[in-house]
Amino acid sequence: MKKAGIVGLPNSGKSTLFNALTNQNVPAEKYPFCTIEPNVGILVVEDERLTRLAQMEGSKDQIHPFFHIIDIAGLVKGASRGEGLGNQFLDHISKVDMIFHVVRCFKIDDVSHPMGSVDPARDIEIVEIELILKDLETVNKRIEKIAKQARTGEESARFELHFLERLKAHLESGKPARILSRNEQEQAILDSLFLLSEKPAIYVANVDEWGLGQGLDKIVEKMARERSSESITVNAQIESEARELSPEEARELLLAYGFDTNLKKRFLEHIKRALKLICFLTATKNEARSWLVPEGITAYEAAGLIHSDIQKGFIKAEVIPFEQILQFSSFKEAREAGAVKSHGKDYVIREGDVVHFLFHA
Ligand code: GDP
Repeated sequence: MKKAGIVGLPNSGKSTLFNALTNQNVPAEKYPFCTIEPNVGILVVEDERLTRLAQMEGSKDQIHPFFHIIDIAGLVKGASRGEGLGNQFLDHISKVDMIFHVVRCFKIDDVSHPMGSVDPARDIEIVEIELILKDLETVNKRIEKIAKQARTGEESARFELHFLERLKAHLESGKPARILSRNEQEQAILDSLFLLSEKPAIYVANVDEWGLGQGLDKIVEKMARERSSESITVNAQIESEARELSPEEARELLLAYGFDTNLKKRFLEHIKRALKLICFLTATKNEARSWLVPEGITAYEAAGLIHSDIQKGFIKAEVIPFEQILQFSSFKEAREAGAVKSHGKDYVIREGDVVHFLFHA
């Protein structure tokens, strides 16, 4: 199960955002979730296609796409040298698949800023430098090891060493690994290093109520672009307050301040792009589910996600794109009309496919 970690300087709004994203207005017990740690939560996003499909098929339960989110507190300047929660903090980051980097753009006097002033560009760099310093440690260790092998003339070791030196110079110039150019062979080396600054990141500009026009989020947006990443502007505080309201009231509140109304959905879209994920749908009388899975997944692999028995006994996958099933009243009717296609194990599942697996029990 993939997960994202929320990082940022103290008082940037991490916990507020975490609460806004993970506080559920859906019954959460249906979602596979196995931790009781307070800083681990689950983002559940309504997939309207699923709601519709569940109606058509008369499904009892609905499981919407979900994603694990971890609030990683404790980053201060010097974390890579063990300051603050230092290593523990970096350890947490090493375990997530992607990062939400929250950047304080709100100027509220009664919420102190650890650096004394609001300055998104400086703050982004402080956090990034800590990750990069940690990565440099990792790269230096590897260089030491590989240098010995390279001296004995091993071709692959020489290649790796050459790349590691280039990577080191890149990191030393203060740039995240993510934006280093690489070929396939170099990518494999990078993958084996598990660098923190290689993880996909989404920069979250946390602006205040009257902050939309101040342009601080534009700084975040520009820096994100320079780092081959996306950015998102939020007001964590209002989002968090909106949770207490009815959906209509929340919508009105957000619109009044000029914010988009569906934070969770926006986040899921960013997550899907950053990690190259798609959703496909299944529905039985018992349960309809929207599955968040890696792009390129085959029907056989998808069957395995649902149940090992379905994979073992795989016969075929019956598939119809969601938009097409809307022309019928049910999957059965679509099948009878010849609109459902049958595919074998190697079929690559696409975004919005409605899939029905046939298997030997
Ligand atoms: P963390 O240390 O990064 O987890 O920060 P918190 O989420 O605890 O937020 C620190 C303080 O800033 C809290 O008092 C929040 O209510 C406040 N805060 C967070 N986001 C916003 C925001 O978007 N606007 C305003 N005005 N205050 C915010």
